[in-house]
Amino acid sequence: MTAPTPIYVTQPFLPDLAEFQPYLEQIWSNKILTNGGPFHQQLEKALCEHLGVEHIALFTNGTLALVTALQALRITGEVITTPYSFVATAHSLLWNGIKPVFVDIDPQTLNLDPRRIEAAITPQTTAILPVHCYGHPCDVDAIQKIADNYNLKVIYDAAHAFGVQTTPGTSVLRFGDLSVLSFHATKVFNTFEGGAIVCPDAIAKQRIDHLKNFGFVDEVTVVAPGINGKMSELNASFGLLQLKHIDIAMVRRAAIDARYRAALADVPGLRCVRDAGQAVANHSYFPILIEPDFPLSRDALYQRLREQNIFARRYFYPLISDFPMYRGLPSAAPGNLPVASEIARKVLCLPIYPALSDADQDRVVAQIRACA
Ligand SMILES: *Cc1c(COP(=O)(O)O)cnc(C)c1O
Repeated sequence: MTAPTPIYVTQPFLPDLAEFQPYLEQIWSNKILTNGGPFHQQLEKALCEHLGVEHIALFTNGTLALVTALQALRITGEVITTPYSFVATAHSLLWNGIKPVFVDIDPQTLNLDPRRIEAAITPQTTAILPVHCYGHPCDVDAIQKIADNYNLKVIYDAAHAFGVQTTPGTSVLRFGDLSVLSFHATKVFNTFEGGAIVCPDAIAKQRIDHLKNFGFVDEVTVVAPGINGKMSELNASFGLLQLKHIDIAMVRRAAIDARYRAALADVPGLRCVRDAGQAVANHSYFPILIEPDFPLSRDALYQRLREQNIFARRYFYPLISDFPMYRGLPSAAPGNLPVASEIARKVLCLPIYPALSDADQDRVVAQIRACA
C-alpha cells in the first residue's frame, strides 16, 4: 500500500506561474532590482489601501523588521513580552541587548494577559511587545491604558495578523506605536520572505526607511547605524500579485475553519480555540487543545497523525522561555507562566491553507476522530 499524500500544516498560496511572468519582464526591462524601486513603492501603497493603514515600510523579513522597530523607538532596558510565540519575538530583544520579561497569557485568547503586566513593570521597563497570536487581537485597549500610565511604548508583533480588523473597518495594525508584519512563505500573505512595519506617521516611517537602508539619508549622509533590511523588487512584485488573490484565499480559509469547527465540535477532550471576537479574522492557524479526557496525549495524537502523513504542528511548544538563552531569566520560570506552560502541552495546529481540499480535510478529521 502506498502512503497517503502528505498534508502539511500549511502550504504557500502560489498563483499561476504565467501570472508572474509580466512582473519579471518589467524588472528585467527596468533593471532596478532593489533600493526602493517601483514595485517596492507600489506594494507599500497597495498594502496601505488593502490593510487600511497610513504608512508602511517593507522589509526583507519580519525578524529584521522587529529588530528595526525596537531600534526606531530607541527601546532599551527591559521589555515585557509573551513566552507563547515564535522564537523571533524574543530574539529581536536579545539582538538589541534588551532583557525580555515574560508575562503569562490569557487562557481564552492565548495572548499576553493584561492583568499580569503591571506586576512585571520595573524602573527599567521601557516597552511592551505583545503578539496577536494566531491573528487573534490582543486586548489593545487594556494594554494601551497600562502603557499610558507607565509611559511605555507598545510594539505589536503582528506577524500572524495580516488583514485582521478589531471592529469593522479598523485594522488591528492601527494600535500601539508600531506593528510588525511577516510575509514569510508560511504566513497568510507571503512574498517568499518579507515583512513590514506599520507606522502611525510619516516621521516614524522616514526614520525606519533610513534605518533599513544603512542609515543613509542621501549619497553622503548617514544618520544612524542602520541595517540592510530592504525588500527586493522580486519579492515586492510577487507581493503585488499575491494581493490580487488574497480575498479569495481568505474566503477559502474561513470555510476550512468553519468545517473543522463543525466536524470536531462533539469530540470529547478536544477544544477548538475560539477567536477573540474580532470583526474580521484571517484564519491563519487552526489551533486545537487536547485536554486530559482525550484518549491520547497531545504528543501521541501528533505522532499518530504523522504516521498517516499528516503534519500538524505544536505551535507554540516549547515556549520561548524554555529555550537555553532564556530559561535562566527569573521571568522564564514555569511557575511564573502556568497558563502558557499548560497550553504549550495541549496545543496542536491543524492543516489550514487555501488549497486544502475538502477530501484532505476530511482525512485529517477522520484520523482525529478515529483516536477519540
Ligand atoms: C513568522 C514570525 C516571525 C518572524 O517573521 P520572519 O518573516 O519569518 O522573520 C515573528 N514573530 C512571529 C509571531 C512569527 O510567527
